[in-house]
Amino acid sequence: MEYRRMGKTGLQLSALSFGTWVTFGNQIDNQVSEDLLKLAYEQGINFFDNAEAYANGQSEIVMGNILKKTGWDRSTYVVSSKVFWGGEKPNQKGLMRKHIVEACHAALKRLQVDYLDLFYCHRPDVHTPIAETVWTMHNLIQQGKVLYWGTSEWSAQQITEAHYVAERYKLIGPVMEQPQYNMFERQKMEAEFLPLFSNFGLGTTTFSPLASGLLTGKYLKSLPEGSRMQLKDLDWLKRSALTESKQHKVAQLQQLADELGVSLAKLSIAWCLKNPHVSSVILGASRPEQLRENLGALEVVKNITPEVQEKIETILGNKPQFQEF
Ligand code: NDP
Repeated sequence: MEYRRMGKTGLQLSALSFGTWVTFGNQIDNQVSEDLLKLAYEQGINFFDNAEAYANGQSEIVMGNILKKTGWDRSTYVVSSKVFWGGEKPNQKGLMRKHIVEACHAALKRLQVDYLDLFYCHRPDVHTPIAETVWTMHNLIQQGKVLYWGTSEWSAQQITEAHYVAERYKLIGPVMEQPQYNMFERQKMEAEFLPLFSNFGLGTTTFSPLASGLLTGKYLKSLPEGSRMQLKDLDWLKRSALTESKQHKVAQLQQLADELGVSLAKLSIAWCLKNPHVSSVILGASRPEQLRENLGALEVVKNITPEVQEKIETILGNKPQFQEF
């Protein structure tokens, strides 16, 4: 396993990490969840990603039970939670002080840990002043309940604003962002966030490296039984992921992967790892074989030569442009 610093912080994250969205407490049973988490840990993964919204908290309960059962030394892993979607009633959703504090306490309980290493604002909350959110996160860190706080799917402007608030009041600002990053979603990581990397040393833990499985090529022929795209509550995902134009590109990428003698899943994850602004690529898996295969991406990074990179750019045709003024 390779370890990278999370932006300008001293924290070391495994370059490949493991998340539980869709799977834990929902698509897969507790035994498979345990097998997956153990495999991840044994292979050197030290960051496990979670959120209050995943399976309405059930995912954190499942992970907490496994962490307790295995008894792994707390200093050997990093565990996260995210706050935003806690429920439908007023103050159960968003980034007001009340919900952030309550969500933190609830996550600590579900995960059965004394502190969260990473705590993310899962989305921006345009109805709560950013200063209220920054103050609350700072206070949780002062109380020892959170070690680092960050954001997920915030814009560069919102993150910058949070930094300015932190600077003004001498508070601890957000140090990591969790954006989607894969061959189809590149704008933030390759253009919009560039000033944040140079100005603030922002770390990134990127999600959906396979665009929810699309970039394995497995959807080219059919909808495999038991796969994520078959889940009823993810119909919206199926509609946005399985478009004709994306599938056309996937077919060409599959051909390139075949020529290189590697699987498209490994090539797609390795492509994310090539970006030096990525601190950790969060993997998802519903079966141990998938995770085993995806871990092999570390060996494929070397196959992405400038020539291969050029071929990928030609297929994708979506290289983001960064305008410097
Ligand atoms: P991916 O894009 O890598 O999709 C993972 C899914 O693809 C698996 O669950 C599996 O689904 C399929 N798959 C994985 N590997 C293979 C393989 N080798 N061959 C065939 N199929 C494979 O990542 P996720 O979308 O799951 O995101 C990863 C993590 O990122 C999440 O668990 C979560 O922690 C985080 N995340 C954060 C978000 C945020 O808003 N901050 C949003 C989304 C994710 P199947 O069961 O269909 O086979």
